[in-house]
Amino acid sequence: MKVTALGTADALCSSGRGNTAWLVDDARGSYAVDFGPTALLALRKLGRDPEELDAVHFTHLHGDHIAGWPFLLLGARTRPLLASGPPGARDRLHALWAACYADASERPLPFALTVIELQPGESRELCNRQVTAFRAQHMGPRHVALSLRIDGIAFSGDTSELAGGLCDGAKLLCCECAHAVPGKRKHLDWETLRDNLPEVPRILIAHLGEDARRAARSFGNVQICDDFDSI
Ligand SMILES: [Zn+2]
Repeated sequence: MKVTALGTADALCSSGRGNTAWLVDDARGSYAVDFGPTALLALRKLGRDPEELDAVHFTHLHGDHIAGWPFLLLGARTRPLLASGPPGARDRLHALWAACYADASERPLPFALTVIELQPGESRELCNRQVTAFRAQHMGPRHVALSLRIDGIAFSGDTSELAGGLCDGAKLLCCECAHAVPGKRKHLDWETLRDNLPEVPRILIAHLGEDARRAARSFGNVQICDDFDSI
């Protein structure tokens, strides 16, 4: 299994890096977790074809995590594509597609598209992988953000704390760390994370703001990621 950081920055592309998204290649194929505005460019820079993706699992519906979606629907794709996301994902993804390409959005897609909405606590087999959704602490009460467990990998998404159970038995945690120090809401910070690391064999850290990128240091099983780092 190979996990690649398609981007490692926050929403603002801090330090000139791409918005955080992950590419996973396993025995069953390839999938992405989140697909922000820089994700397609990152795939292309890796020499990858977006057609190779079986699925995109969205942790939440902020622009830095979903705005690359319309560009996955363009082009000559023929293979089926599955997307999953929190409640509301189906309408939001379609609205984004229609806002960007109104004409194309009025025609049938040339491939089968399935969009699955996951409630926190729900676990489903999607594209032969077990996907479990946890509630992330990131958005106001009317909106749901998720952390995801996909087989042995935990993805924090954006959250101010890691959900109970998310990392249990995980081989790898792909974790956000937007800030350097505590005090900001909605995201994790380096000092808190460093002092409260979950017991996971490997931890990859991304979604780094400018301050967090300067403060954070790789050590032991913790790797501060730059774009295109992979394990
Ligand atoms: Zn967010």
